[in-house]
Amino acid sequence: MAKLVAQNHPALHQIAEEVAVDDITTPKIQKIIKDMTSVLKNCPRGVAIAAPQIGVPLRIFEVYENTTDKTDQERRIPDMVVINPRIVKVSKKKEEKEEGCLSIPKLYGKTFRHTKVTLRGYDENGIEFERGASGYLAHIFQHETDHLDGVLYVEHAHETWEADENYERA
Ligand code: ZN
Repeated sequence: MAKLVAQNHPALHQIAEEVAVDDITTPKIQKIIKDMTSVLKNCPRGVAIAAPQIGVPLRIFEVYENTTDKTDQERRIPDMVVINPRIVKVSKKKEEKEEGCLSIPKLYGKTFRHTKVTLRGYDENGIEFERGASGYLAHIFQHETDHLDGVLYVEHAHETWEADENYERA
């Protein structure tokens, strides 16, 4: 049974490896994607997860519209799997954002994030795509790609505080 690994797990602090595109549809990678989905679905306020968070040092993340308020258009996010993601464009403008991480329970913090990004990667079927995002989704893309580079938000947060589990985490 896959589960979230502790904050000191090496997978959370190293640069994750790319997945060979031909391997994306293999049972091995599909199983990792399935495991990530089931772990994320078990996190009541989880909105996204990266493979290193379950101890797998591969460049895969998922976004999942879990408990996000669906009436709030600003915070609506699509379900998606992204393999070998690359942020290919960012806005000059950054915004201060509040952020929480599934790998760091009971903490919340403030970071600066680009307001818009363009992401390129492969979906779970091995199809390459590019997608622009702004606001909440852009924020999530940056948090997740950081995970794949071994970076946790607390390493660049300018303020952190204790917060309960009712906050969204990624
Ligand atoms: Zn996180």
